[in-house]
Amino acid sequence: MSNCPQKTQIGKRIGIIGIPPLAIIKDLEANGDTIFDLDEPLVKTNIELASSFLPRVFCAILRTAVVNALSLQLDSIYIDVGPGKCDCALHTATILADILPGTTVIKTRNQDQIDFGTPLCTARMPLLDKLSAITRSVQSARPYPNLPACVPTAGFWGVPPRDFSLLSLFPETTHVYGWTRCMENKTPDNQQLEELVNPDIPTVFFAQSFCAKTALARHLAGKHPHGLYVDCDVTAGNSAKAKIQAFLELSTPQNPASGMQKPEFCLLSSGLPTF
Ligand code: SF4
Repeated sequence: MSNCPQKTQIGKRIGIIGIPPLAIIKDLEANGDTIFDLDEPLVKTNIELASSFLPRVFCAILRTAVVNALSLQLDSIYIDVGPGKCDCALHTATILADILPGTTVIKTRNQDQIDFGTPLCTARMPLLDKLSAITRSVQSARPYPNLPACVPTAGFWGVPPRDFSLLSLFPETTHVYGWTRCMENKTPDNQQLEELVNPDIPTVFFAQSFCAKTALARHLAGKHPHGLYVDCDVTAGNSAKAKIQAFLELSTPQNPASGMQKPEFCLLSSGLPTF
């Protein structure tokens, strides 16, 4: 993602929604195109602009993507509509193609299966920086350099939130799970990896409001010995933040070096993970 969305570019201006297959990212890199991750807030325009095209009661990530797409004068948008994303994205693709005749909207179904590894998810780093690095990493066809894993004291499971401010509530020793881990691994359609957890660490199961993943997040939180389910819409409100803060303060062990010995495992799938 460019830090300056309006800057003049040499290659084409390409938007991505979700994670396009690796072959497409390689082509974009080879062409010198500029990639804009439309799932993130890139422009200052009010999200209400999207309400002419998508219902207000709809995933805030995709409402944000529509606002970005309306503002950025893109040549093309690659939008993943396969099992690694969601039906909401499929319908958003149809709407974008209709309202943006000057932009080519290309639907993809990313079912890449090659594991690139997840060193960022387990590294010691402020969670906000960590998720920023993970979301940036999908614009590259290369794996992230190896990093040592830290002993975890908390877990964050879910998609990167629309409002990153809630991530600042977590300790630097938070391990990342759920679809965000699938992102770093460059396998967005990997259900087993998405279900991976560490039963020893207090884990916040986060989903965007109005997303189908709310069902999985709440179910997994119910099965996890120290799980908290949270969903947020456009911004993380004070009550959600207070809930996360209290949960982490009351649950974080005083001596993380002792006790965190159980391996990560899938809460629902019967087979052992292969990653
Ligand atoms: S948060 Fe859920 S509904 Fe929104 S784009 Fe991601 S998978 Fe789709």
